[in-house]
Amino acid sequence: MTEPASPGDAVGPRGGDRPAVAVVGSVNLDTTVRVPHIPTAGETILASDTASSPGGKGANQAAAAAAAGAAVRFIGAIGADAVGEAAVAGLRAFDVDLSELQTVAHAPSGAATVVVADDAENLIIVTSGANDHLDPDLVAAALDRRAGPVLLTQLETPLAVLAECGRARAFAWRILNPAPISADPGLRPLLAGFTLLVPNRTELAQLAGLPVPRTIAEVSACVAALGFDGDVVVTLGADGAALYPAGGGAAPEAPRTFAPPPVRAIDTTGAGDVFCGTLASGLAAHGDLERAVADAVEASARSTELPRAQLVPGDAAVAR
Ligand code: ATP
Repeated sequence: MTEPASPGDAVGPRGGDRPAVAVVGSVNLDTTVRVPHIPTAGETILASDTASSPGGKGANQAAAAAAAGAAVRFIGAIGADAVGEAAVAGLRAFDVDLSELQTVAHAPSGAATVVVADDAENLIIVTSGANDHLDPDLVAAALDRRAGPVLLTQLETPLAVLAECGRARAFAWRILNPAPISADPGLRPLLAGFTLLVPNRTELAQLAGLPVPRTIAEVSACVAALGFDGDVVVTLGADGAALYPAGGGAAPEAPRTFAPPPVRAIDTTGAGDVFCGTLASGLAAHGDLERAVADAVEASARSTELPRAQLVPGDAAVAR
């Protein structure tokens, strides 16, 4: 294994002296179709607009970390098709290191079709495709080759990949955003491999086996029920975030809470991804968790004023 890197280590040629973040996760091409109403079975309707944009939680978080100033490398999988190339175009625009992107011959690239009706009702169909075939052995080898200081992952790739991320002890910060939350019993034991958990309220509730918390006292009760040894940061939508430092155990102290700045939110899709990417970038830059959470709340709140889930280079000011 590579020696643990210290906060601030760079990732090589692309990194310069920028803080290094490795993101392991999904990449999709999202196609959004606007229709007068959600069609019923057998119905054919005309769309008023169709637009494609890069997505997937892993790629969204990688773009946000890059927007916040990190030198990011992305470890994920696409199919051998044009959809995959379009899906990673957003990461190329940020000069994210894609040298460890896997190309899967036997599965299509991940794709999501988002059908949005005039009344804002929506329907989403996801083809996980290549994301389900991300090879855990290749991920482990990639993490072993160049480590530290921050590794960030989510739950849109196989649990065997998650297990490898938890084993990558040369990364001082191993961050798990448990989204989308899974009821797979194999998930719970893997949490112990991570140093920092970043759930939203719903994800926290499911992991804790309790109802979705509404008050901070209920959030604290869920965190206590988790029995997680590391740090926990709970995102609270328009209420910002709550930080529970490691060591609180079954009786965590009142959390440090962070309120977002006033914003005119027009699209909250992907706000959680901007939060996680910015947090990872901050930890790689200075290792101060409170400061990184404050910056993540600020950036994610500002991102709700943008009509897209994945940041683009012109949005970098959002995250600084
Ligand atoms: P998503 O699934 O939409 O990406 P999420 O459910 O993972 O989001 P949230 O807790 O809803 O995560 O939001 C993440 C962060 O984004 C919050 O911690 C907050 O800083 C910011 N945020 C989200 N919604 C709002 C809002 N309406 N106003 C201000 N900030 C917001």
